[in-house]
Amino acid sequence: MIGDYENGTLVLDGVPVGQIADAVGTPFYLYSGSEMTRAYGAYAKALQGLYVQICYAIKANSNVAIIRHFARQGAGMDVVSDGELQRCLAAGVSGEKIVFSGIGKTEPEVRQALQAGIHQINVESADELEMVAKTARDGGWTAPIALRVNPDVDAKTHAKITTGRSENKFGIDFTLAEDLYRHAGGLDGVRPVGFAVHIGSQLMDLAPYRAAYARLAELTRQVRATGGTVERLDLGGGIGIAYGDQAAPDLSVFADIIRQEIADLGCALTIEPGRSLVGRAGLLVSRVLYDKRGTSRRFLILDAAMNDLIRPAMYEARHRLVPVDQPQNGAATAAYDVVGPVCESGDTFAKGYDLTEPTPGDLYAFRDVGAYGAVMASEYNSRPLVPEVLVEGGEYSVIRRRPDLAERLAAESIPHWLVGAND
Ligand SMILES: *Cc1c(COP(=O)(O)O)cnc(C)c1O
Repeated sequence: MIGDYENGTLVLDGVPVGQIADAVGTPFYLYSGSEMTRAYGAYAKALQGLYVQICYAIKANSNVAIIRHFARQGAGMDVVSDGELQRCLAAGVSGEKIVFSGIGKTEPEVRQALQAGIHQINVESADELEMVAKTARDGGWTAPIALRVNPDVDAKTHAKITTGRSENKFGIDFTLAEDLYRHAGGLDGVRPVGFAVHIGSQLMDLAPYRAAYARLAELTRQVRATGGTVERLDLGGGIGIAYGDQAAPDLSVFADIIRQEIADLGCALTIEPGRSLVGRAGLLVSRVLYDKRGTSRRFLILDAAMNDLIRPAMYEARHRLVPVDQPQNGAATAAYDVVGPVCESGDTFAKGYDLTEPTPGDLYAFRDVGAYGAVMASEYNSRPLVPEVLVEGGEYSVIRRRPDLAERLAAESIPHWLVGAND
């Protein structure tokens, strides 16, 4: 786990979590720089000698400081919108280190990407290929494109984050990819450089990767057999992480799969991990509002809610909850339904969760929320987006402040026909 208890209180990268909570107010996301560095280093080490460029999939956590952290480790970036592209540029990442993924790119987005000198656009349909080619021609560019293929492999992960089955919206049908690639070769405005796959997120079983990579290799050989060139292969997202007690997949096994299925093709390789680079580095720190006793259940009501962390409601995800201040030995415990203040019964983080009986004001931290946490937050119930804080080497910095109500209201306006009389 990230953080250690020192003198009974949780300390992250040299800073007591309670000290940050007092300064910043709760709830807030807190990220450990050292853990992100460790996670990136684990990939770099496992993939050594395979000529793989790691492109951090910033949709997992797109704060500019987080992007900058990984850029300084040597990472490129994987983006899925112009907003994400602009975040990378703002973080000082140049276009040549950015891959543009996603199934619904718009023409203005593609133009922005080409303007930025994008390394590669991963194309997901025949229509999109024509649009990218035309946009590039109109601007006098040649777009380096890869075709994202759908290998029709079951990633055996949650249905909402599986992307590599033929019934999923993602990628070009495996059986259509070769023809489309050849067609792209004759199109002005694009330069087909290779293929990409991404079969899903939070994979705990690596066998689906082997199946997908084998299909990618087969496709590459077919294209080459008919005189085509395939310079690059993009191997998609990273491995799953341990949210509970089960062990995460082994990166050296993942690297072996790449070595066995892909390495001999001699392609430049890219991998786009998101979750596994930031997931474990993040805490969501929250204060206890109430210990509410019902007749059948007992509720721990926190000041964090589903709008801050949607994963439990969206994916049935379970995040461990730990007290920031260690309870006294022998303190009474009870089973709690851990909930937030939002007016939805779905605003439930855990059911029947064993905790030491808390006192209002106590601090708790949800673990492993660095990925798909803050980025999926909303302002539902007019709750402001919570701050994000980065901590490293005994220092912390607020990397996104809490917006005030005035600036949020400033974006809204009342039309003229609702102004005047009756006021
Ligand atoms: C989401 C996504 C990733 C990152 O997946 P993780 O499971 O977070 O590693 C990589 N590539 C593409 C195309 C994605 O959509």
